[in-house]
Amino acid sequence: MAYHQTWTCDLCQHEQRKSMEPRSLYEMSVTAIRADRRYQAHTLHTTLVCEDCLKERKLYNPEPTRAEPQYVTTFEDMLREIVREEIEAKG
Ligand SMILES: [Zn+2]
Repeated sequence: MAYHQTWTCDLCQHEQRKSMEPRSLYEMSVTAIRADRRYQAHTLHTTLVCEDCLKERKLYNPEPTRAEPQYVTTFEDMLREIVREEIEAKG
C-alpha cells in the first residue's frame, strides 16, 4: 500500500504530491500586531497558495529580479565634460 501526501492550492485547487514535478506551494497568512509592538503578533488566517497564484496576483515573485546596473560617473567622465565645455566655449 502506497501512501501519498497531497497539497492543494486554496485559490486554484491545483493538487500536488511531494513526488510530482514541483509547482511550489507557499503558506500565505495575515498577521496582526499592534503598531507599538507591545503585544505578540497574531496570525489571523493562513492559506496554502501555489507559486503561480502568487505571481498572477503579484503578491510575491520568488525569482530574483535583476537590478539595472547603476552608472557611476568617473573622474574621466568629469574631465571629458570640462574639456568639452572648454572647446565649445572657445569654438
Ligand atoms: Zn494556485
